[in-house]
Amino acid sequence: MAHEVDRPTYEVAGTLKRFDERDSVFAREDLVPGSAEEREYHALHPELVEIDRRLSRFIQHKSPDAVEASDDPMNEALYESTFGSVPPLGEPDAVDGPVNPHQVRMEPEAMTSRIKAVAKLLGAHTVRVGPLNPAWVYAHRGRGPFFGGYDANPPFFSGVPEGYQGLNYGDAIEIDQKYAISMAFPQDANLIRTGPSLVCDFETGLVYAASALVAVQLARYIRALGYPARAHHLRNYGVLVVPVAIDAGLGELARCGYAVTKELGANFRLACVTTDLPLVPDKPVDLGVQDYCEKCLKCAENCPPRAIPSGGKVEVRGVSKWKIDEVKCLLYWGNQGAACGICQVVCPWSKPRTPFHRLVAEVAVRVPWSRRFLTKADDWVYGAKYKPAPYPEWARCVR
Ligand code: SF4
Ligand code: SF4
Repeated sequence: MAHEVDRPTYEVAGTLKRFDERDSVFAREDLVPGSAEEREYHALHPELVEIDRRLSRFIQHKSPDAVEASDDPMNEALYESTFGSVPPLGEPDAVDGPVNPHQVRMEPEAMTSRIKAVAKLLGAHTVRVGPLNPAWVYAHRGRGPFFGGYDANPPFFSGVPEGYQGLNYGDAIEIDQKYAISMAFPQDANLIRTGPSLVCDFETGLVYAASALVAVQLARYIRALGYPARAHHLRNYGVLVVPVAIDAGLGELARCGYAVTKELGANFRLACVTTDLPLVPDKPVDLGVQDYCEKCLKCAENCPPRAIPSGGKVEVRGVSKWKIDEVKCLLYWGNQGAACGICQVVCPWSKPRTPFHRLVAEVAVRVPWSRRFLTKADDWVYGAKYKPAPYPEWARCVR
């Protein structure tokens, strides 16, 4: 494929260190004050107690406001239909399972084509295969489902799902599979552009739910062929899907903290499947995104809580990158009562896949001196400042 290079364009500046899932903001916001997990985590990180209390206030079932009626119940209920449907797909026996002892054999090239075709048939937009770098495997379990007494899908269901029993918060994660199949799923820009809003939340959850189902289906397909395979998605990640996708050449690590791809910009969600099925890995790509992001800053300037840096890269667990402030981002979502995808839709790479925009993306990749002009042109044509789109007709029943 065009633009392939031997190494990903992020700079390895030190020793790569695995990320502990307990340190993610989504694990920390789940910590119930006084619980065993909260006491254990904050004994190690006393400096985070206050900020984590603020994060945890926004979790529905812990919120003092949880029983209050919503002022937009028709749209708030959409959360249940999307995000609320994913937890069963995250149970350990959904993401992984028994392997058929009768192995199907095929040349790796042909098998790789077959797997990509099946992933697309299931619903993935873009599929790339990379080697699985062990540095991208989470070090320890940390998300809510591994807490003692976890409620499976509050407030409507409760209890620790059977598949999680015996797996605990803080357990080491070991995944030594050789390959990772990365899949990208586009989001509807018109719905994300309403954000921060319940409609933006809906589209995010819808795409996450679809991507989770595809990852689970693809992993099952591979296990049925006789090879180990484990799905990774919103409700059960064992690997960091962004660097995994970048190693596979789906896109490049960008200022906004996401991968930016030539086809979808930053407006998509990722899921992946790790496996030992013999495959032929793709190479990473150089689209000029590092240089483009140096000149652009549009996501940083439009991020309401200024969670995206305007300055340079810093070293994070061995990688030199733009480091977003996840706490500021999540607190902003909490204050707004819904998720925001402003950085995803203002990115000049996130454009409809029309022939014109494909041509502009091609120019951005191939003509480095055009990039400064293209950032300005994007401001002239689409505006430098983010303006939310109106709610679609179907979502206006209460508002
Ligand atoms: S999602 Fe919104 S708040 Fe978070 S980094 Fe992007 S623009 Fe900023
Ligand atoms: S908006 Fe600009 S700076 Fe931000 S990720 Fe996109 S290209 Fe990079």
